[in-house]
Amino acid sequence: MVQPRILKFGGTSVADAAAVERVTGVVRGHGGPRPVVVVSALAGATDALLAAADAAACGEPAGTEPSVQSLLERHSNIAQRLVRPEARDALLAGFEAARREILQLLGRIAHEPDGRPALRDEIASYGERLSASLLTAVLAGAGVAARYVDSRHCLTTDATHGRANPLMPLCVERTLAILTPLLDDGLVPVLGGYIAATADGITTTLGRGGSDYSAALVGAALDAQEIQIWTDVSGVLTADPRVVPGARTVASLSYAEAAELAYFGAKVLHPKTIQPAMDCAIPVRICNSRAPLDPGTVVTAAGEVRPGGVKAIAHKGRVTILQITSTRMLGAYGFLRALFEVFDRHRTAVDVVTTSEVSVSLTVDDTASLDGIVADLRRLGTVTLEPDRAIVCVVGEGLRTTPGIAARVFATVGDINVSLISQGASRVNLTFVVEEARVREAVCRLHQAFFEPARSVA
Ligand code: ADP
Ligand code: ASP
Ligand code: MG
Repeated sequence: MVQPRILKFGGTSVADAAAVERVTGVVRGHGGPRPVVVVSALAGATDALLAAADAAACGEPAGTEPSVQSLLERHSNIAQRLVRPEARDALLAGFEAARREILQLLGRIAHEPDGRPALRDEIASYGERLSASLLTAVLAGAGVAARYVDSRHCLTTDATHGRANPLMPLCVERTLAILTPLLDDGLVPVLGGYIAATADGITTTLGRGGSDYSAALVGAALDAQEIQIWTDVSGVLTADPRVVPGARTVASLSYAEAAELAYFGAKVLHPKTIQPAMDCAIPVRICNSRAPLDPGTVVTAAGEVRPGGVKAIAHKGRVTILQITSTRMLGAYGFLRALFEVFDRHRTAVDVVTTSEVSVSLTVDDTASLDGIVADLRRLGTVTLEPDRAIVCVVGEGLRTTPGIAARVFATVGDINVSLISQGASRVNLTFVVEEARVREAVCRLHQAFFEPARSVA
């Protein structure tokens, strides 16, 4: 049987009528077998919905009406321009029903503190439900046999609202059951990304930027031929283009390289996207919906080494370092387990870890439970905090084999204070922490040193 191909479009790719038209062109012209479309909410829609939910939770539901109204108008304006008249009325009636439902949910959120996380997800889910129904109608009008599919019926998760974890066997079973008959009939399913549901049908979300992850989950469930992530840049670039305007496309990455880059700040891929693709050996291709002919980046198991060793640099700000010092660590066992159990209990991920004889330094970016974490850690030793830090991550399969990269990296940022270094854990990255105020400078200098040889400072 011909394996399907997943086409995922991010928020900027459907930001307005011109962008949605480009998406239509990509879907019509993609030329691959059995396409399945996964789409994000319109750019800014999730921010607007979550801001409304938070304002309503503070007792201001009426004040949120204009923002909900203008969000629905953005959808209606695109529909007016791109949806055929015969399909438009039904779609606009659906938008109006959604507006009323959102306002109703916003009215409840202040009075139901216990239900707030679930209500927040339910409210946020309208972003992708609206964009997917809009795109379905536009595609249908352009001659694509598109069918809206409620992704909450396909992707099943636990009840961790805001960052739910997929229950993979159920995702596979339900996605296959719903999508296979459609694909067999020659239809093009269109699903909203980011949203899912518990086994009992309660709406959940996969975390901000999670539509990439949805595409990977659907791709894994269908054993797709390829997962394409269509965004607003031509692939994974050598650095964040908002920091390094001259960053350029990396033609190919291994799964390990892409996972490290995504995890350490390359926003172009949600950090969880690579795992399902890697588990099923499905290539992930990152393409530009504004420049569809650009080759973009392909991510596969193959670990091609770039001369010089480094493929890209990622960075991630708003990180806090915690250092725990205790002489009880000396020669003891069980100490690290006790230490990491604290983070487990507070459901907080640790990013970078280093240890010495009597101390452990580590970084977290989620500080929601920091007070509780610090209180628990104080039972194990002395705790110091360094807020306002940033992680820099230099990535390349070549780090395994090229001598001298670390020396070059640290010579390049020699006058910037480095507080924590980790190399060797994954063998494709060198990670270190600097003050947030100097991270842009560090990334720009490293980019010059490794990717702009004519102006190299190393
Ligand atoms: P989408 O809406 O398509 O999901 P995102 O905004 O989530 O798009 O991700 C694309 C953005 O990621 C780019 O516009 C770019 O600013 C940012 N980005 C950060 N680091 C990188 C990188 N290394 N390569 C490409 N883009 C990056
Ligand atoms: N719409 C969601 C967000 O803004 C998911 C995504 O865009 O991937 O976070
Ligand atoms: Mg994204």
